[in-house]
Amino acid sequence: MPIFEFRCTECGDVFEKLFVGSDDSVELKCPQCGCETLDRVLSQTNYVMGAGPGGAKPKLTEKSCAGGNKCFTLDIPGPSK
Ligand SMILES: [Zn+2]
Repeated sequence: MPIFEFRCTECGDVFEKLFVGSDDSVELKCPQCGCETLDRVLSQTNYVMGAGPGGAKPKLTEKSCAGGNKCFTLDIPGPSK
């Protein structure tokens, strides 16, 4: 089961969220302050763990952004809203 990390843009709290394949109604909000403005934090370890047997793997694409910073896009397979 893929686990993704998120960081709250309001209070800065970082938490992990487990995505269960059969549940397409994942609620995403900060456990500390309850707001829903979150940045996704990519964890390589969790990304590897998320590659379950027989399941589609999240697709991580690295690219260069303005200012020389690296950024990533992550496509999560499975049910989508
Ligand atoms: Zn928060």
